[in-house]
Amino acid sequence: MKDKNKQFAVIGLGRFGSSIATTLYKLGYEVLAIDANEEQVQKLSETVTHVVQADTTDENSLKALGIRNFDVVVVAIGEDIQANVLTTLILKDLGVKYIVAKARNELHGKMLAKIGADRIVYPERDMGLRVAHNLVSTNVLEY
Ligand code: ATP
Repeated sequence: MKDKNKQFAVIGLGRFGSSIATTLYKLGYEVLAIDANEEQVQKLSETVTHVVQADTTDENSLKALGIRNFDVVVVAIGEDIQANVLTTLILKDLGVKYIVAKARNELHGKMLAKIGADRIVYPERDMGLRVAHNLVSTNVLEY
């Protein structure tokens, strides 16, 4: 049975992060969504539990949000690799139990692993793999 008391935080509300945040919320979980950009924050205001504007490379902002109490924190910051890595490092230092981080390439992924991210995802690569597999599987019409 799924534990619906699990609390999630998603940092970086681009296409990937907002898709994760809104999906988890629709599935019945509590979701805190965070982005530095006010526009992104506005877009999600109706579709997650809480949404806040914060720069997550600032340790004090993350502390003030009580980030260490969340069961899973997703770092979905994309283009700004420095912000992605710094945020992951701070989350790790603050003792977050399970960190999922999005990587842009293999080297970035390696760095995230060294910092201690628990799961590293490569959205474009993983989706490419999935589509390719689907194209050659017997149920081509399924995807
Ligand atoms: P996607 O492919 O998911 O659309 P992307 O890879 O193009 O996203 P970005 O748009 O660069 O990624 O980043 C995703 C979000 O992360 C943006 O909405 C951006 O405002 C946010 N972000 C960037 N830096 C920070 C930061 N320091 N703190 C919080 N949010 C940030």
